[in-house]
Amino acid sequence: MTTTQRKPAWLRAKLPSGPGYQAVRELVDTHKLHTVCQSAQCPNLGECWSRGTATVMILGNICTRSCNFCAIQTGRPTEYDLGEPARVADAVAKMGLRHCVITSVARDELKDGGASVWAATIRAIHYRMPQTAIEVLTPDWKGRLHDLDTVLDARPDIFNHNLETVERLQKPVRVQARYERSRSVLRHAKSRGFTTKTGIMLGLGETKEELEKTIYDIVEDGTDILTIGQYLQPTPQHLKVERWAHPDEFAYWKEFGLRAGIGVVESGAMVRSSYHADEQSEKYTGK
Ligand code: SF4
Ligand code: SF4
Repeated sequence: MTTTQRKPAWLRAKLPSGPGYQAVRELVDTHKLHTVCQSAQCPNLGECWSRGTATVMILGNICTRSCNFCAIQTGRPTEYDLGEPARVADAVAKMGLRHCVITSVARDELKDGGASVWAATIRAIHYRMPQTAIEVLTPDWKGRLHDLDTVLDARPDIFNHNLETVERLQKPVRVQARYERSRSVLRHAKSRGFTTKTGIMLGLGETKEELEKTIYDIVEDGTDILTIGQYLQPTPQHLKVERWAHPDEFAYWKEFGLRAGIGVVESGAMVRSSYHADEQSEKYTGK
């Protein structure tokens, strides 16, 4: 089924405004940070920044991969900034965040994929803000578990890695990623005792049966938290939206995931990995 690209009413986002929004904007600018909120053109930017939350993207804003759903620029990254972990920690402290979400572009050209910068960033935040829960949304490390271990050894509170879509659509949606590889990353973090989280999008052409299978796979991997949101086409060069999932369908999948055994399921058209992440994860971090 195809659809017009015109968004339904339930997908209209709030415009950025208010003192909270201004304060986050100033911190992001003065600390020379990248946020996925901006780079991925997230529709929740107005709401999240007004609440004083943002997802900081480390290791630059140019990605070595070219996922066909993602607005982040593909290319040859040049940024490798050893001062970044301290600046990120300073911004988290100034925002006074109880829960912070860190993500990065994929840096497949680096020998460790950027794992050492990830670990330094987590440690810097723990040092400055021991009470802040740190959620990491990481790449797949091309399946290299020793690089994943470098990140996990820095003790993030929540480990997140997105499957993004059902197994059949991995290749068209996440060109350089693999469904089973991503699952192995999630399973490894779980086997080390971490709280794990993943996310999928609706509207890419997946079927009901494929979604059910994906949710059962997520349960089998022991994943604690699942986010489900609507895919939005960032530019005409990206994959088209195949359908707009109705709010009732999001409610259906939430119920389905909870019944299947996932601890927390956040499901809604505007849900993104980091949307209201502080509320989703309180149960696990206790922070
Ligand atoms: Fe940023 Fe995440 Fe909020 Fe989007 S949902 S604006 S990426 S914090
Ligand atoms: Fe976007 Fe991540 Fe894919 Fe890079 S690896 S294109 S940042 S989704």
